Amino acid sequence: MEYNRHELPKLADKLKTSRNLSKDEWIYLISNRTPELAEYLFSLAREERHRHYGHDVYIRGLIEFTNYCRNDCLYCGIRKSNSHAVRYRLTEEDILSCCRTGYESGFHTFVLQGGEDGYYTDEKLARMIRRIKSLYPDCALTLSVGERSCDSYRLLFEAGADRYLLRHETYNTRHYSMLHPPTLTAAARQECLWNLKKIGYQVGTGFMVGSPYQTAEHLAEDMLFIKELNPQMVGIGPFISHCRTPFADRESGALELTLFMLALLRLMLPRVLLPATTALGTIDPRGRELGILAGANVVMPNLSPADVRKDYMLYDNKLCTGEESAECRRSLEKRMESIGYHVITARGDSLN
Ligand code: SAM
Repeated sequence: MEYNRHELPKLADKLKTSRNLSKDEWIYLISNRTPELAEYLFSLAREERHRHYGHDVYIRGLIEFTNYCRNDCLYCGIRKSNSHAVRYRLTEEDILSCCRTGYESGFHTFVLQGGEDGYYTDEKLARMIRRIKSLYPDCALTLSVGERSCDSYRLLFEAGADRYLLRHETYNTRHYSMLHPPTLTAAARQECLWNLKKIGYQVGTGFMVGSPYQTAEHLAEDMLFIKELNPQMVGIGPFISHCRTPFADRESGALELTLFMLALLRLMLPRVLLPATTALGTIDPRGRELGILAGANVVMPNLSPADVRKDYMLYDNKLCTGEESAECRRSLEKRMESIGYHVITARGDSLN
């Protein structure tokens, strides 16, 4: 390796000019990061973000419409085997009412997220999508409902869905198998992402930072995969343990590493949409502001009915009562203004 620790900023500059690094360079940069290097990266990342998106922060209204899930991901609080989870699914009318509230307070993107719930057949989802799009034709509709067949993705796209969020979680096959049951594979997850892209969705992928067994090499592989996929959005957040999962005693991912990865993503894909996630806001009260200052440009307040929010508990202490909610838009705006950014209500399509 031609770099020594004192030359780390050179690697950051190389990333800025060539928009990519080799696997060894990614590993080196991630494993040898220092607070000074992080500050330097954040300033480069902000420059890129300002060039393409100015000081605007896009908002997405998140509707967590079902917490039933057929899967048993080892990290997730709504996994099938968590018999303590109080299960709910919103009706079509509930969901439309969330959209109405969101629209009235200025949201122009709705994100329908849920566990993989067999109740929501293609027909039910397509009908819902059509109703939302006919009532709010100026809004973008994002789905995040996990792995489905290519035909299903196509049908939902034809019904009017614009975007799809499906984190690849971790690119590495062995690491993937340590976080998921044998029924789920890294290859199948990635194939879904390629299918979604081919169909024409604006696609979001991503991963958890600091998930159990994760190494710098895994993160390097994630960066290489994301570069190749070239998605419109990348959602990353710290892994946070949940007391009713096999990873209950695992340490959560670090704020510092999550911010570092956000800045690397902004430099690798300057025009990508990058949310400062709820998980980031959960591990640190100023997590989302720090995420914006590291290059993120999206926040996703919760539009779900207040009484079910506590049941969409993916990890312990997930923010669900306060300022992450859509009702508190004004306080979110103030928080963003306090760091020199402003929330805007545009649809906010990706420039990538
Ligand atoms: N079922 C859909 C899917 O698989 O994409 C969407 C819902 S899933 C719960 C949404 C995301 O939550 C996952 O992609 C995962 O990265 C994140 N997540 C789940 N458990 C988590 C945890 N313990 N800590 C941080 N993020 C978590």
